[in-house]
Amino acid sequence: MIKTDVVIIGTGPAGFTAAIYCARANMLPIVLEGHEPGGQLTTTTDVDNFPGFPDGISGPVLMENMRNQAKRFGAQFLQTMAIKAKLNTRPFIIDLENGEQIEAQTVIISTGASAKYLGLAHEKELIGKGVSACATCDGFFYKDKIVHVAGGGDTAIEEATFLAKFASQVYLIHRRDKLRASKPMQQRIFNHPKIEIIWNTIIKELKFDNQGLNGLLVENTQTKETTVRKTDGFFLGIGHQPNTAFLDNQITLNEQGFIVTQNGPCTNIPGVFAAGDVQDPYYRQAISAAGSGCMSAIKAEKYLEEHGRI
Ligand code: NDP
Repeated sequence: MIKTDVVIIGTGPAGFTAAIYCARANMLPIVLEGHEPGGQLTTTTDVDNFPGFPDGISGPVLMENMRNQAKRFGAQFLQTMAIKAKLNTRPFIIDLENGEQIEAQTVIISTGASAKYLGLAHEKELIGKGVSACATCDGFFYKDKIVHVAGGGDTAIEEATFLAKFASQVYLIHRRDKLRASKPMQQRIFNHPKIEIIWNTIIKELKFDNQGLNGLLVENTQTKETTVRKTDGFFLGIGHQPNTAFLDNQITLNEQGFIVTQNGPCTNIPGVFAAGDVQDPYYRQAISAAGSGCMSAIKAEKYLEEHGRI
């Protein structure tokens, strides 16, 4: 059994920042890195809006820097996931995928959110064979190809504009006649020479052969007309699902599945805090995630001070 003052579950700007603050407060944090160390920023290219980098910084480098900073102060990283959490006792018990257990005085949950899929038949088995939820990871493979992106929010537009750097043509399929994306993001695609928006359209079926995806069966929601659109790639840009399955409903979630926090990073369980996208359906920025990671560390330290160790 590993014993610690604080276990930080998940790494991204929130988890790493929490780790930096906890480590500097001498709490010797154990950080569970999970399957995607560094989180969503490791799949982006340049981050231009993180303060302190006037010329921008690459997402993976920013994450590596944060990790090294936490390590410098004594944070310990484990390359495993939390699969179960027992939060109705103190110390809290976290079961790890590698079979070990952690006994923690406080817990910081910063597991982020993962891309949503449409739930179409064969969608998951076609990942890597024409279906993707990460343009920055896979866009390069679609040089001079035709791709379709689903969604009408900022994520979809970001995916579409990124893909347009490689693909010969990008179609954005949106289920309504109005984009949800912010106005500045919308400006990026209106009049983009390589991007066309297909309005009022839903995807009903993925068409494929043994080479992978080759088309989408779509339906116009107004006319109910269905057509098959030829495509080499299909990218999901329909939002993200917070990663909370391992909590098994012990923590209060909102109707979209995000952890409900109050007074900054506090969950409904004293001693358990949440930071970053797992509790933020709105801002979802690296800097806001980092800020909430800092708050969760300070609250965890305060909690230990007030309640002592058990
Ligand atoms: P959003 O929830 O904002 O948008 C999701 C989009 O996908 C909507 O247009 C929605 O359609 C569509 N959609 C959802 N489910 C389905 C479905 N089953 N079938 C078809 N379409 C579907 O998620 P985002 O990930 O785009 O953005 C989330 C937050 O992150 C926002 O606050 C955004 O501003 C922020 N963000 C900011 C970025 C930036 O500033 N660079 C980049 C990415 C995200 P409908 O509109 O009809 O509901």
